[in-house]
Amino acid sequence: MVATVGPACRGADVLSRLIEAGVGVLRLNLSHGELGEHLELLETIRATEERLGVPVAVMADLPGPKIRLHACSDTEILEGAVVDVQEGDLPSTDADVRLAIGATGVVAAIEPGHRVLLDDGQTRLLAVGRREIDGRTVVRCNATCGGSLRPRVGINLPDSDPALAAVTDHDLELAIATARAGVDLIAVSFVHDGDDLRGLRATLLEAVGTAGLPGLVSKIERPSAVRNLEDIVEASDAVLVARGDLGVELDIAEVPVVQKRVVGAAVRAGRPVIVATQMLQSMIESPGPTRAEATDAANAVLDGADALMLSGETAIGRHPVLAVEVLRRIARTTEAWHDDRPHDHGAGIESAEDDDPWLPAIARGAQRIAAELPASIVVAWSQTGTTALVLSRGDLRIPLVVLTDDPRAARRMRLLCGVVPVTVDPSAGLGSDRDAFLATAQRVALERSIGSIDSIGVFVHGSRREIGKPTDALGVFTIGEGNRA
Ligand code: PGA
Ligand code: MN
Repeated sequence: MVATVGPACRGADVLSRLIEAGVGVLRLNLSHGELGEHLELLETIRATEERLGVPVAVMADLPGPKIRLHACSDTEILEGAVVDVQEGDLPSTDADVRLAIGATGVVAAIEPGHRVLLDDGQTRLLAVGRREIDGRTVVRCNATCGGSLRPRVGINLPDSDPALAAVTDHDLELAIATARAGVDLIAVSFVHDGDDLRGLRATLLEAVGTAGLPGLVSKIERPSAVRNLEDIVEASDAVLVARGDLGVELDIAEVPVVQKRVVGAAVRAGRPVIVATQMLQSMIESPGPTRAEATDAANAVLDGADALMLSGETAIGRHPVLAVEVLRRIARTTEAWHDDRPHDHGAGIESAEDDDPWLPAIARGAQRIAAELPASIVVAWSQTGTTALVLSRGDLRIPLVVLTDDPRAARRMRLLCGVVPVTVDPSAGLGSDRDAFLATAQRVALERSIGSIDSIGVFVHGSRREIGKPTDALGVFTIGEGNRA
């Protein structure tokens, strides 16, 4: 589960409860607040993580080229009102309502007949004409659906497709600053194509090097991203179905199918995928979700999502911890039902990005053996997280406990469905000592009640081969009977 941090949960106490309730990724929404506050939050999260002894990933979500209301001559737009729109400052016209948009190069793309949608499409305008006043373009619109406007409300132009770069200069600064501060993931808003990600990755590589490079999560939230889906997925470390903007940029009727297409593309490419926005929306106010929300969350699990994300529910809601607990119960119940159904051996393993041809074979073998015995746990050693990724892309249906001595790799694994990462001390040498690795793995399994005495486990380990291709061993053990491997 991914939870967005905000006023409702940013204290160490609520953060701890979210983590204890199962949140593995905390999202800092850089569209709101100052960079300094987010970096302070990162410190609080790291201290909490340390205290609880559970790896937690932090995802910095870049604002992207979100178009926002800059100024408005009235807070109320009535249906049928004449509304003039200009960039920068209010147009000097006699319209009922005058709006200024806070982005450049946008108004030029609005043609008569295009929709101008404010506040998630709650307030809707239709462009009917354009003229130049004092060298500035003013677009005249009619309000087809009125509403009241808050400052800095979001604007969507689904028909105009203004050529806005996904990663603005401001985003680049935020990306470099948060990467230097050590965030684990960076979410890129309004991605247009794979180049947006490749460009950002190259810049970050220069700034922080390979070791400090966060995973890049592409947010699919505009029509061009759906058109360029395969290219984007290929260039990303993970994908996020951003149903909020998607539901305004596309016909709302297309959102359910687009969710299935995006999740499917990510699964085929072996990339973890997050489904986001309005997951348990009514829990911002209510202590329980609607039937439709519970069913939507369950269906996202069945679509193949690795993670479900909460936004306002945890950031500004009245019941942040309860929302996480409910989401966990829905996901667990759904997974248990799914796990009882016939197996599909190793669906996404081939595609998981890896240069080692042995690894997919070992992963498929582990899955096959685990299903046939049946085993109740798989334990693996993963130095960089690659072995964890490839093993988790299959259809294992039993817990995959992964030991690593790299805390950054452990945190990133929180995005992978079914993976329980455990950070161990590098001095224990578990990467090269198989007996010590198995003894530790068994202790962890018992401590966390994942496996019981006498239950069967499958292990994946290695390091007795050349450096860089360490995963070369696959075997079976019985918990509590020493190391029979
Ligand atoms: P946002 O992204 O909350 O940053 O807008 C998610 C979405 O659009 O669904
Ligand atoms: Mn969005």
